[in-house]
Amino acid sequence: LSSSIQKAQRLIGKSGTLTKENMKDPLKEVRRALLEADVSLPVVRRFIKKVEERALGTKVLDGVTPDTQFIKTVLDGVTPDTQFIKTVLDGVTPDTQFIKTVSNELIDLMGGGVGAKDLEPGFPQIILMAGLQGVGKTTAAGKLALYLKKSKKSCLLVATDVYRPAAIDQLVKLGAAIDVPVFEMGTQVDPVEIAKKGVEEGRRLGVDAVIIDTAGRLQVDEDMMGELRSMKAALRPSDTLLVVDAMTGQEAANLVKAFNDQVDISGAILTKMDGDSRGGAALSVREVSGKPIKFVGVGEKMEALEPFYPERMASRILGMGDVLTLYERAESAIKEEDAKRTVERMMEEKFDFNDFMAQWKTMNNMGGLQMLKMMPGFNKISEKQLYEAEKTFEMYEAVIKAMEEEERSDPELLVKSMARRRRVAQASGRSEADVAKLMGAYTAMKSQMGGMSKLLKLQKAGADPS
Ligand code: GDP
Ligand code: MG
Repeated sequence: LSSSIQKAQRLIGKSGTLTKENMKDPLKEVRRALLEADVSLPVVRRFIKKVEERALGTKVLDGVTPDTQFIKTVLDGVTPDTQFIKTVLDGVTPDTQFIKTVSNELIDLMGGGVGAKDLEPGFPQIILMAGLQGVGKTTAAGKLALYLKKSKKSCLLVATDVYRPAAIDQLVKLGAAIDVPVFEMGTQVDPVEIAKKGVEEGRRLGVDAVIIDTAGRLQVDEDMMGELRSMKAALRPSDTLLVVDAMTGQEAANLVKAFNDQVDISGAILTKMDGDSRGGAALSVREVSGKPIKFVGVGEKMEALEPFYPERMASRILGMGDVLTLYERAESAIKEEDAKRTVERMMEEKFDFNDFMAQWKTMNNMGGLQMLKMMPGFNKISEKQLYEAEKTFEMYEAVIKAMEEEERSDPELLVKSMARRRRVAQASGRSEADVAKLMGAYTAMKSQMGGMSKLLKLQKAGADPS
């Protein structure tokens, strides 16, 4: 008996708390996830420490755990098709709560604090692109021009990569493709001079924004930094955007530090996020520089630029897919009052078809059976099973709707009367076997409730279980 009582205590007891002890293994997992996502080691260390501090003593969400746990247990083994509600609710545990804390912390780190994630204002806006060679600066310059054009801003692109003739051609072609003018002076003029002339040209044309594409180097070097510093001094750009390849991996932190220390960037664009990278560089960028990631490149096409969404990035870095979405839906679907009502009704040993339907509604609020598709273990449930469970639910609903009010609140009437069951079957357009199936599900749930109720009463009376 004692373990049952312990179970009951868990069910109705105070919210669980996260402790140093029970966080140990989950934290190890988080650490592994971050390293796998290529977040730089020192950044990971600082992050884990922060999460630990933040999560210690975090209460498991009110209304979600003890009462919900209870519903979950009530549903235990009731019918095969209620199993899925349990599966959904399984997503809501202190563990999930912990992951939620981790994710919130990541989101905070990448998105909170520093002002606007969009471009800085300016007349014209002058945007200086910085970054190593091949990271996607020229591509990003074109993408930004198109992005601005779509928000009704005119642009001028300026080509200053005089070290590679092909680089100028590349920008000219991009400009033509998106119908944005490109300013260039060939390869024989000093890049800083071209940039200055480019801005003058932009003013003359009256454009809203001038985007300066620059030359990168294979590695951080003094030439490149010197050139960027001179451009910054001469142009006073509204934005200096560091373009970072998401595949950079562990090195991202050092890279960002170098650029930020030497040319003081205003933000970053993370490119090639359409690749395999989990995007750990995003965390490093933000943590090391304190500057926001403003955009994400997701392909080679000019349209493939998106604003940066910290939530999405956090979930990608942690490799969690939609688990959090699931959690959030469960959180909003399961109202504390509903759960309390269930407990109260149970204490009175009342459980009718209205309660039965309410349980199903909770599940429906969460997005119905389709929710299962978001669960990590979804492959365990076949489409066919899902379909059948959905059909069963439709059937239950139809049959319950066809009942008279007195039957809904007093199911015994149906238990006792064959004639009533037959009438309900006819009125609902379902078979008598269907009605029998519902009655079976109801009876099973009720007896489960009865058992729970006795435990709860014992507990309330303060009886010694042993
Ligand atoms: P730059 O040397 O920094 O100017 O880099 P480029 O703009 O020339 O880009 C280098 C290569 O990366 C080109 O082949 C681009 O098409 C490609 N590239 C740039 N951004 C992205 C992106 O977001 N996704 C993918 N898949 N490729 C990209
Ligand atoms: Mg380039």
